[in-house]
Amino acid sequence: MQGANLRGLRRCAGCGVLKNKSEMIRVIRTKEGEVMVDETQKKNGRGSYICKSLDCLEAAAKRRGLQRDLRYSADPEIYEQVRRIIEAANE
Ligand SMILES: [Zn+2]
Repeated sequence: MQGANLRGLRRCAGCGVLKNKSEMIRVIRTKEGEVMVDETQKKNGRGSYICKSLDCLEAAAKRRGLQRDLRYSADPEIYEQVRRIIEAANE
């Protein structure tokens, strides 16, 4: 595999598989501590990725994958935001 491709790969917080980040949803925690979906995938902050799949979202919610990746413990509302984006993408 080429290095350029490797650099674009991210691990899903749900299924744990490496995929190209263009196929995934990025969630970040900013240095102000705000957790949000980063639809541009270009914002600064600690990032976590989930495949555009409700199965992966559920797996991530179950194992608290986003909280673990982003090192935050509060608001699970972020999973609802990701769900809406996945549902819109799959329509
Ligand atoms: Zn996944």
